[in-house]
Amino acid sequence: MIAPGGTIGILGGGQLGRMMAIAAAQMGYRCIAYTPDKDHVVGDVCHDVFVNRWEDTLAMAAFAQKCGVVTWEFENVPAAALGPVEALLAPHPRALETAQDRLNEKRFVERLGGRAAPFVAVSSRQELMDALERIGTPGILKTCRDGYDGKGQWRIATSRDAEGLSLPDAPCVYEGMVPFEAEFSVILARTATGTKAFWDSTANVHKDGMLHTSTLPAGDAVERHLGEARRLAGEVADALGYVGVLTLEFFATPQGPVFNEMAPRVHNSGHWTIEGAATSQFENHIRAICGLPLGDTRTVSPGVVMTNIVGKDADDAARWLDDPATHLHLYGKAKAREGRKMGHATQLVWDL
Ligand code: AMP
Repeated sequence: MIAPGGTIGILGGGQLGRMMAIAAAQMGYRCIAYTPDKDHVVGDVCHDVFVNRWEDTLAMAAFAQKCGVVTWEFENVPAAALGPVEALLAPHPRALETAQDRLNEKRFVERLGGRAAPFVAVSSRQELMDALERIGTPGILKTCRDGYDGKGQWRIATSRDAEGLSLPDAPCVYEGMVPFEAEFSVILARTATGTKAFWDSTANVHKDGMLHTSTLPAGDAVERHLGEARRLAGEVADALGYVGVLTLEFFATPQGPVFNEMAPRVHNSGHWTIEGAATSQFENHIRAICGLPLGDTRTVSPGVVMTNIVGKDADDAARWLDDPATHLHLYGKAKAREGRKMGHATQLVWDL
């Protein structure tokens, strides 16, 4: 157990790390972060920030020396960089290895009985043409690694689209488009002894491949799949010996939940839990990795709506506070680039 007062290392310098560090500070922990990004947003809330390349093993070793436990907020940390912190990592790095590659992740989840969209590995134009023949259109070509928020994805409506596409120089997966009724995620926290707690699942709406809103209640199209989706997410967590918060994203279809992808970390679709649940995803992640008991994950209001604040929408973010039931979170990013997540607003809905 890492007792309050101890030091938690966070790999990554984005908003997830920032919100983790805020939750950790509340319980008396001190956080230090490691990130190659000079524009990190953890500096305001972390005791120290190491700004170094992932591959700088000396810097990583110096970082490790200061930490009682190390976690990540960013899942594309190169596996090769983890040597010096490996013994301190929670969750176990096998979760990163599984989730860093879309093909791996789909095969892993299918072995546990989950169902993914039809998919084929694609590494050349010929393989793309074969994939289109096997799976048909519409579909999406995705890079296996390093994609997020719709980046590294190409929608293919007809085979003619594929002919005009310049293929990325990286392994990809072609997926059939799933005609879903809704999207949702299952977010759970698991302790080292296998105790699990689930938050309510929101209905998630995406815009241009990026999460736009997460809403509770999620509605029947989502709720009727929760038993099956939670069972699968629980099995994934057990199979990985997972410690911390884990997220699985699903499409809700009339035939059942279709697995989309997993994130071995706290997730944007769980930001509502800061005010909307008795214990937030960030707090329970910190509790789990420090060996403390999990807090109650119950939703505290009849409804919740979380809206991401993206790009220039941050310029008048204070308008969200016109509604006293809404809580504003800004991540302290200096530049509001188009498509950049700048913050989010969580509205607690008391009268449905
Ligand atoms: P991803 O980064 O894979 O989560 O994709 C981002 C968003 O694109 C998803 O949340 C969906 O809205 C959409 N999307 C991705 N893959 C598919 C698919 N196979 N079928 C339908 N929609 C998809």
